[in-house]
Amino acid sequence: MALGSFACPIRSEINTRFQPKLPNTRYNRNVAILEFPTARKLVIDTFLAHRSTPEIELIPLIDASGRVLAQSATADRDYQPFDRSVRDGFAIRSIDLPGELRVVGEVQAGRVFAGDVGPGQAVEIMTGAPVPAGADQIVMVEHAEFDAGIMRTTRPPCPGEFINYKGCESKSGTEVLSAGIRLNYSSIAVLATIGQENVPVFRKPKVAILATGDEIVPVGSQPEPHQIRDSNSYSIAAQVLRAGGIPHILPVAKDNLAQTRALIEQALDYDLVLLSGGVSAGKYDFVEPVLAALGAEFFFDGVLIQPGKPLVFGRVRDKLYFGLPGNPASTMVTFELFARPAIELLAGQSHSHLPIVEAKLTVPFRHRTGLTRFLPAVLSSARANVTPVAWQGSGDVVAQARANCFLIADPNRESWQAADYIQVLLQ
Ligand code: AMP
Ligand code: MG
Repeated sequence: MALGSFACPIRSEINTRFQPKLPNTRYNRNVAILEFPTARKLVIDTFLAHRSTPEIELIPLIDASGRVLAQSATADRDYQPFDRSVRDGFAIRSIDLPGELRVVGEVQAGRVFAGDVGPGQAVEIMTGAPVPAGADQIVMVEHAEFDAGIMRTTRPPCPGEFINYKGCESKSGTEVLSAGIRLNYSSIAVLATIGQENVPVFRKPKVAILATGDEIVPVGSQPEPHQIRDSNSYSIAAQVLRAGGIPHILPVAKDNLAQTRALIEQALDYDLVLLSGGVSAGKYDFVEPVLAALGAEFFFDGVLIQPGKPLVFGRVRDKLYFGLPGNPASTMVTFELFARPAIELLAGQSHSHLPIVEAKLTVPFRHRTGLTRFLPAVLSSARANVTPVAWQGSGDVVAQARANCFLIADPNRESWQAADYIQVLLQ
């Protein structure tokens, strides 16, 4: 990857101009602002306690990738189902090695050799073929000379070499996939192997997306100079899809109480409500007053992270909701950290993990302590090097799109040298 072209100019210090001030004008002054790990644990615990088992649907295997398995899958027979050669070569008796053996026949995949392999004998065998009775080792074709019906090898005896015995991978009736996993191409291969043409999966949660803001106009319109196109509804929808939910985008709510309330009420028909914007301390931030008027509980009113500090989480009329801050990067980061586990758990997944790795910084890096920061960065896969991307703060969608990960700045550490390891959240 051409790192330099993505990451120029490299900025190694985060401008504290973007440090949010502790607001004292926020609507829910008495509701806690939590540290990142506490807030994430609260979200995960709340969804685990709140969710009910989703309905189950039976779908064709070809459509099952990315879905959550609803019932554990068991082996319909032993795997391997027979003693199977894993190399092209010769099936022999290990006590005969090294030596010269008479080749008495061949067996290809999908066939069975009728006789036994006797003393001094070999049977030519192909990968995937059943090992003939009597043989207990395969000599690879590359390790043998074969001429006029005789094979010669210098290989030492090694009983069991290149044979996968019946049942060595899993026994008939044992669990091969547990319920609650998200199916990927390897688990799909397991389902195909055990003959599950149709797969029981959990119904996907339906997620309402409600952007707010007087300045926000639809993507298809030509904005006035002071207006902004609605990118959040679409980035959130993309993230909902990736998390395993079905997104439903509602019309953008203007910054007034009546319209915000009417649209939040519509959003309550869905399994989860994701609001964007209108949760800061501004005069026209109406999301929290409307939620309060609808009888909402507020579980937290901010998290000590940047971007995304004004994030709100709570319950209204038996539905859980997130008020995601409106700045595009804040919306994306808070989604990944909090809404994604919520959707994964509502979708029936048994676990939700953040994909965090450590990578080596290419440049020195500093930030102001106190907040956990999730900053756009480029991870170069070849050497696991990470470079912060220059950005203009959490409204900078273009810089965000140049990144392929978030660098995680520990709230208790101020500086890192080039070549220090730092945590990275994969995108
Ligand atoms: P707010 O959280 O409502 O104060 O919005 C913070 C910033 O994010 C403002 O500059 C908004 O214009 C911008 N913003 C809010 N909602 C959206 C949206 N749906 N799409 C793009 N930008 C947005
Ligand atoms: Mg707004």
